[in-house]
Formats: sequence, C-alpha cells, structure tokens
Amino acid sequence: MRTLKPRANQTHRPARIQRLPERVVGLLREVGQLGDDRGYQIYVVGGVVRNLLLGHVTQDLDLTVEGDGIAFARLVADRYGAGLAVFERFATARLTFPDGLKMDIATTRRESYAQPAVLPTVQPASIEEDLYRRDFTINAMAMQLNPGQFGRLLDAYGGQRDLRARTIRVLHAGSFQDDPTRIFRAIRFEQRFGFRLERTTSRLLAQAASTNLIQQLSGPRLQNEILLLFAECDPARAIARLAQLKLLRFLHRRLCYTTNVKRVATAVPKALAWWARRFPDSAIDRPIVYLMALSSESSPVVVAAMIRRLALSRVHAENVSTGGRQVDRALKKLTNTGTVRRSQIFRLLADLSDEALVLLLAKQVSMQHGVRLGLLKRHLVAYVKNRTIKTALTGRDLQAMGLKPGPQYKTILGKLLDARIDGVITTEADERALAHRLLKKSVQQGRSE
Ligand code: ATP
Repeated sequence: MRTLKPRANQTHRPARIQRLPERVVGLLREVGQLGDDRGYQIYVVGGVVRNLLLGHVTQDLDLTVEGDGIAFARLVADRYGAGLAVFERFATARLTFPDGLKMDIATTRRESYAQPAVLPTVQPASIEEDLYRRDFTINAMAMQLNPGQFGRLLDAYGGQRDLRARTIRVLHAGSFQDDPTRIFRAIRFEQRFGFRLERTTSRLLAQAASTNLIQQLSGPRLQNEILLLFAECDPARAIARLAQLKLLRFLHRRLCYTTNVKRVATAVPKALAWWARRFPDSAIDRPIVYLMALSSESSPVVVAAMIRRLALSRVHAENVSTGGRQVDRALKKLTNTGTVRRSQIFRLLADLSDEALVLLLAKQVSMQHGVRLGLLKRHLVAYVKNRTIKTALTGRDLQAMGLKPGPQYKTILGKLLDARIDGVITTEADERALAHRLLKKSVQQGRSE
C-alpha cells in the first residue's frame, strides 16, 4: 500500500463546529483562547470531528495540544473546577466538568512500536504526525480551536473523501501489525456506519487476521475490543462478520458458531426489549449477554478457556459460564407444560443472573414456539416478583428456638421461603408453626441416626 502523504487540505468552515451544543462551542472557544494565551495550538480530534462531519452526536470531547498537554489540562481543570486524572505514560489527562462533560486532553505525539501488538512508546510531535498515527483516515482529522482559526479543519489524509465514499481506510500498510486492536475497530466502524473496508485495507486486515498477531494482544485489550463491538447497535451482525473474517478463533479455536448460536444472537434484541419493558429497573450488561450467546453451544472447557483468554472479571466470568448448560437445563424444565411449583422455579433460576435470564428468553424466542414462549414469560414475571419475598424469621429466631449450629439453618430457612413463595404460609405465625414442625422433625431424625 502506498503510504498516505499529508496533503494541504485544510478548510476553514467554522460552521461545522457550531453543530455542537451551544455551551460546548462556548467552552471550546474559551479553551482555544486559553491555549492561545499560552502559545499552544489546540485542536479537537478523531471521533469528535468524524461525528461532526457525519452530523452525529458526540458525548465526550478529545482535544490535543501542540505543547504540553498535561500542563494545559491542569490549567483548564483549575479554570473550570473540573476533576482531573493524569496518565503521564500516555501524556494524556481526563477532565470531568461539574456538569458531567468529559474531555480528554493529550499532547500531539508520534508513536513507535517496539514490537507488534504491544502498547507504543510516545514522543511529542506535530499535529500532522499525530494524525498520521491514528487508525483510519476518517478518524485522522482535527479542527483547530485557537481564535482566528476556530473550526479550521485539518484533513491531511483524505478523511472527508472517505467519509463521503463510506470507506474505512488505514493510513499505512503496517497499521494492523502495529496495533491489531485496529482489526476490531475497523469492524466496529464498518458495522456502526454501514461503511465498507477499502480494498487494500480489507486485504491487509485479512492478512493480519491470518497470522498470530491477535494472539499477542493482552487479555484486557482483546476483551475491551470484543465488549465494545458487542455494545454496538447490532452485535449479531458483528459476530457474523467476525466469523466471516475467521476472527472468532482468537476467542477460542474450538468456539462453536452454529446456526443455533446465530439464531439466539439474533433473538437477543427481542428478549432485551421485553425484559426492559417488564423490568425497567433491572440494568442488563448487554455485551455480556452477547458473549454468553456466542459461547452458549461450546463445551464448558472451551468457555472456561475463553474466559481466561479474555481475562474476564469474576462477575463476568460467572455470568458467561452459566450461559450454556445451566440455562438450557432451566429452559427445558420451565417450558415443560406439566405443573411446576413456584418455589421449584425459584430454585431453578436463583443462581442465574439477569443476563442469563435474558439469554434464556432469547433462546426460547429463537425457537419460535409461541405457546412455550408465553409460558416462559409468565414464569419469569412470577420469578422476578418472588425474588422480593423474604422470610420473617431469621437464623437468630431458629437459634432462639433451640436449633444447634449446623447445615439445618439453611435447610429450614429455605423451606420456609419455599412455603412463602408457594403461598402455603402467609404470616409470621405460620412461619413459626412450620419452623417448629421442621425443628421437631430434625431433632427426631438426629436421634434416629
Ligand atoms: P467512538 O465513537 O467509538 O468513541 P472514537 O473514534 O471516538 O469512536 P476512541 O476509541 O474514543 O474512538 O478514540 C478516539 C480517537 O483516537 C480515534 O478517533 C482515533 O483517532 C484514535 N484512536 C483510538 N484508538 C486507536 C488505535 N488503536 N490506533 C490508532 N488510533 C486510535
């Protein structure tokens, strides 16, 4: 690939930056002035500029400074009473303004990669060099903030052209090698915007994907890319794209991407929508549901290895490891049209997270069996309601009744809860009576043993 040379393509149409909310434009003007007073050239860069040109909204702001980015960040933080976190190694700082706005400020830099797939070392450099180290042309544009230049677009590598052509293009042939996370980023932007990979970029990506480069990425970095991809609008399509590019093998080489998995992943949005309508207070970790769906037909050994590879947190790991057999077992019992007690359902589902319950529902949705789906939804509604039921008695009450320390506490309290859930008992007095009966039985059993 011919390396992209910077072109003198700098247009001054401040109108575009005015598309940001008024208070943000005001803030950027002031920050530009502050930079100017100190002799710094200040820019907004990357995704912010891309989104502005696409007419999309942007939450956080990325600024870059030709000069000392961290010193400038301190200045801005002081001026506006913003919270400040400094990352010396990367010459960046993150500001959180009192109204919640987040702003990253970095020093313009060049990057060099001692080895592929590891984090680069950075050195201060010009804005053109800073833009050149970026992932794709559409993310390699900047807008200046200094007064007199406010809103001037720097597009040295054809970012606007590629936005118009709806194309993802790397800036040089070694890009994926330097940083294989760009492989996943390319898919992320391709999917999000409905863009295409430019031909050479596509070839370079396939080439990089056919090597072991991605294997050299650390667990947390790979995890981050996968979860970001699964946080996009249509993760089922992103998964299909990963499969098409033979990238799933980097999660685990024996990960089973079957037609069933595909169907379940496609059914997740419906399950999520139903869940959100029914239980608006339950916040679901959506990317994890997709990771569970993706690994739901793989063996426990494969899932465990995938969890290790991605260095998932304990909570995520527990979640993902229940996505296969445990969910299937519960689903089978729940959609059985025979009668089941509410307490049985409770026991069946009690160990599953809400993400696992959404997956369970998605599995049923994917089977397109209306009657069973209706039944399952009723069970889930009852179950979630039953989760709020508590026993009036506690271990202390059992102790006061003379129960000796041991596993009986858990058993008896469990039975009391079951009876409450099934509506067999409704008052504290009922509970006490049942507890006495169970206690007596346990004493008798103890004697006969
Ligand atoms: P999003 O809307 O997903 O946040 P973004 O482009 O803002 O998209 P960030 O990850 O916040 O993505 O990165 C900000 C900018 O930093 C990018 O636009 C790009 O210019 C640069 N960048 C981020 N990651 C890389 C990378 N791995 N390699 C090169 N440049 C990168």
